Amino acid sequence: MKPLTEQEIRTAFVNCTKGEAKRLSVPRDLAEQPWDELDFLGWRDPRAPDRAYLATELDGRPVALALRGTGGASWQTRRSMCSICLTTHTGGVSLMVAAKAGKAGQQGNSVGAYMCSDLACPLYVRGRKDAGVGARLPESLTLEEKIRRTVANLGAFIAKVTA
Ligand SMILES: [Zn+2]
Repeated sequence: MKPLTEQEIRTAFVNCTKGEAKRLSVPRDLAEQPWDELDFLGWRDPRAPDRAYLATELDGRPVALALRGTGGASWQTRRSMCSICLTTHTGGVSLMVAAKAGKAGQQGNSVGAYMCSDLACPLYVRGRKDAGVGARLPESLTLEEKIRRTVANLGAFIAKVTA
């Protein structure tokens, strides 16, 4: 994806207030992110690890989501699968909950998805990050197709948040 600036990311949030978007933690090392290999940028707030964020581009426009996630707990030994990139982790998948955009969100409505706890889906899909033995099911899909599927899954999640 195209590199995003801090300003672009802050103004792209669809499911939190403008004040929250102004204050929330955005990575300082945006310039060093491997944008070429990202379908979205995901990160956690280092001061509040249950807060996670992701920024992507939909139809050429930046879109960002604020999420609440459980920390990929070490006691969690069950294997579970990320619903975005379909990587299987032992203890590395979190339920990420996003308040819905607009009025529905203000009324407390939210949507959840199981996602890689470190939000590094694009890097797992490309084999740049390893989630261990058995993390990826043997598939006959090409990398291109897996990337497209990841983007489609993320798009479907964002659509639920903004619906
Ligand atoms: Zn994932």
